[in-house]
Amino acid sequence: MTQTPLCTTTLKGLRCRECGEQYPAEARHVCEFCFGPLEALYDYEAIRGCTSRKTIEAGPRSIWRYRPFLPVVGERVIDVGTGLTPLIRSERLARRLGLGALYIKNDAVNVPSLSFKDRVVSVALTRARELGFTTVSCASTGNLANATAAIAAHAGLECYVFIPADLEAGKVLGTLIYGPQVMAVEGNYDQVNRLCSEVADRHGWGFVNINLRPYYSEGSKTLGFEVAEQLGWRLPDHIVAPVASGSLYTKIYKGFQELIKTGLVGERPVRMSGAQATGCSPVAQAFKAGRDFIAPVKPATIAKSIAIGNPADGVYALDLARRTGGHIEDVTDAEIIEGIKLLAQTEGIFTETAGGTTVAVLKKLVEQGKIAPDELTVVYITGNGLKTQEAIAPYAGETLKIEANLASFERALERARTLDRLDWQQTLV
Ligand SMILES: *Cc1c(COP(=O)(O)O)cnc(C)c1O
Ligand SMILES: [Zn+2]
Repeated sequence: MTQTPLCTTTLKGLRCRECGEQYPAEARHVCEFCFGPLEALYDYEAIRGCTSRKTIEAGPRSIWRYRPFLPVVGERVIDVGTGLTPLIRSERLARRLGLGALYIKNDAVNVPSLSFKDRVVSVALTRARELGFTTVSCASTGNLANATAAIAAHAGLECYVFIPADLEAGKVLGTLIYGPQVMAVEGNYDQVNRLCSEVADRHGWGFVNINLRPYYSEGSKTLGFEVAEQLGWRLPDHIVAPVASGSLYTKIYKGFQELIKTGLVGERPVRMSGAQATGCSPVAQAFKAGRDFIAPVKPATIAKSIAIGNPADGVYALDLARRTGGHIEDVTDAEIIEGIKLLAQTEGIFTETAGGTTVAVLKKLVEQGKIAPDELTVVYITGNGLKTQEAIAPYAGETLKIEANLASFERALERARTLDRLDWQQTLV
C-alpha cells in the first residue's frame, strides 16, 4: 500500500505455460488452444525500475512488501498481516540430523489461519475483488478452506467452501467459525475439485484455486522471497518443501528466479527437493521410476492436506527436481508421526501432518547422502499441528494423574523417571 505509483503496472497479463499464447489478466486458467495452464506475466524491467532491497525492507511487514511481484493492479490490497513468518536457524534438529546449516521456515504460525495457504488466498482474493467478484469459493484439502473463509470474512466477500467429508475436525471447525457455506462432499479431493470446476462454470464464482489459480499460485513465491531476504539477500543451496498439487514447490523456485532476474540476489543454483506421503505419492513414484508423466493415485494417508492424487503441477514439479539436482521422496504414515514428534521435541514447533512429511523426508534424504552436511538447507513447515490432532493424539504421550498432595507427586515422579530413563538417554542430543 506504500509502494511508489510506478509499481502499479507490473502485471502484463496471463501466458500459457505450454504454447506461450497470451491473455488479458482475467479470471481464466486454461489455454483455449492447447489446454495448458496459464501463468501471470510481468514486466520485469518495470519491477527492476521501482524495486530495490531498500524499498522492500521499508514496505509492509507482510507478503505485500513484494507487491510488484504479485499479480494485482490496484493499491487496495487485502493485508491481514500474512507472511514474514520466522526463519529459524536450527540447532538441535540440525545436530540430530548431522547438518551444518539448517533453517526452518515456520508457516505453522502464519496469519490469520496458521498455514501457508494464507499467502495464496490473500493474493487470490485481492485479485478477485479487483476483477469484480463478490462471491468466492475453493476446493480444499482443509487449510485452503480455513484461509479462504477467514480472509473472505475480513474482506466482506460471500464465501462457499468445498471439502472432502472426511477431513480432520480442527479443519472443519476452523472453517465453519468464519461463517461461510461449507459443502462436505462424499468423495476425495480430486472428486471435490472436479465438481468445483463445474460449479465455477455454472455460477461464475471466483474459485481461488480454479478460475483464479494463476493469481492464487503466485502467492507461494513469497515463500521464496522471504527466505532469500531473511538469509540476508542470498539464496539457499537446497530446500525441502511438501508437494501436493506441486504449486507451492514450483513457485518457491519461481520466486528465487525472479529475485535473480531483477538483480536483488546473486545467481546461485538451488537444489529443489520435494516431500510426499507414501499413501499419496504420484510425483515421488514418477521421479523414482524415471518417468516423465504422472500416474494418478487414490490417496490413503494421514497427510490429508497434501493428499492430491492427480496433481495439476505434477509434471512441472518432476521436471524441476530433475533440473536442479533435487529429489522427490516419500515417507510412510509412521515416519510422518515420527517427523512431527522430532520437530516438536528438537525445535518446539508443532506442525501438522504435511510438516511431519517434510521433516521425515529431510531426514531420509540426509540419511541417503542426498543432502550434504555443508549445504545451506531450508525446510518449509507449512501448517499447524493443532489442526490435525487426531493423527498424532495416540502417539503424543500421556499425562500423569496425581492427587493434590506432595507424596502423590513424588511417587508419580519416581515412577516416571524409572520408566523414562532409557528413553531420555536415547532422545537427548
Ligand atoms: C496445500 C498445502 C500444501 C501444498 O500445496 P500445493 O498444492 O502443492 O501448492 C503444503 N502444505 C500444506 C499444509 C498445505 O495445506
Ligand atoms: Zn496453450
